[in-house]
Amino acid sequence: MRIIAHLDLDAFFCAVEELYTPALRGVPFAVGGSPDGRGVVASCSYPARMQGVHSAMPMAQAIRLCPNLRIVPHRRGAYTQASRQVMAKIREITDQVEQISIDEAFFDLSDQTDAERIARDLQLDINQTLHLPSSIGIAANKLVAKIANDYGKAQKRDGKPPRAFTVIPAGKEAAFLAPLTITKLWGVGPKTAERLAEIGIRTIGDLAAQDELKMLQRFGQVGYEITRRARGIDKRGIVTERETKSISQETTFSKDTRDKGELQQVLRKLSQKVCDRLQKKGFVAHTVKIKLRWSDFTTLTRQTTLPTHTDESDVLIQAAQKLFNTHWQGRPLRLIGMGVSGLESANQQIGLWDHDWEKERHVEDVLAKIKEKFGDDAIKRGAK
Ligand SMILES: [Mg+2]
Repeated sequence: MRIIAHLDLDAFFCAVEELYTPALRGVPFAVGGSPDGRGVVASCSYPARMQGVHSAMPMAQAIRLCPNLRIVPHRRGAYTQASRQVMAKIREITDQVEQISIDEAFFDLSDQTDAERIARDLQLDINQTLHLPSSIGIAANKLVAKIANDYGKAQKRDGKPPRAFTVIPAGKEAAFLAPLTITKLWGVGPKTAERLAEIGIRTIGDLAAQDELKMLQRFGQVGYEITRRARGIDKRGIVTERETKSISQETTFSKDTRDKGELQQVLRKLSQKVCDRLQKKGFVAHTVKIKLRWSDFTTLTRQTTLPTHTDESDVLIQAAQKLFNTHWQGRPLRLIGMGVSGLESANQQIGLWDHDWEKERHVEDVLAKIKEKFGDDAIKRGAK
């Protein structure tokens, strides 16, 4: 049983601006670009939200909705600094912290004796010492913790920071999600929502009631994944920063070798191992590197950046082999290694609402899961 918390600072950029300019408190204002150019609202104060302004809206439109809107230029350094202070406070509680944006993080409270109390104290501490309002959602997994927090924040619309605190008890995930509109679910953007509406699915509960194999047949892997999510199932762990930097694997030969066939085979095996770990952790990688060490201990590392983030083994193995073929000129090798970096959690890429899910993961991966659950026959029927 896990206890995951999701913390989100309330109108973060605006809250930081209010620290510098207290006169902004209680006033409709927005941080962002000028309305003359193509400026958009990066963040807006709660009084501005009351008048219909929201983030990502063109600033010109925001001014039309809220003529007395004050515009404050973006001040990146200050936000980064405040963000670091907040994240440091979370890390005092646990090292199992996954920062997903400048003002949002998941953290694992499973080992705490009183998770709710610790989270409440954290919220209070951030408010009292850093003067930043925040909201927290707590649930048995990341998916539900995040949706719970968004839900809790949306309940308060009084022109003040919500400072919400929402807990979904274990076992109540599906019941909590059921009445919510389908677009609240990660991975369901407007396009997917439209397709779902065509077959009468409008709430998360409607989707949860579907047969996941039928959804797989109809919508591909996205259908399977979102049906499981609709039931509140999400097994992804916390992805800490240290782990996200890179994944690599290397082999030192017992005897130096210049057998090209052998070297290529070993490189392929190492790459496959790296790829397995990448997929297991739910990451996609942007950079592939190889490491070669000659008999005299001199070491060469070479890397290449892929056109897009991926966890596809074929793509990663090919990139490693291309590097090897380019940089190995036949000298005996003592060590060979392969690694990936520039990692992002696959869910971070889903993050925004209209993601092309079909590309996100391999169908085989899903088929394997189904096989595990329903046996081989299910696959034959389902994949026909
Ligand atoms: Mg926020």
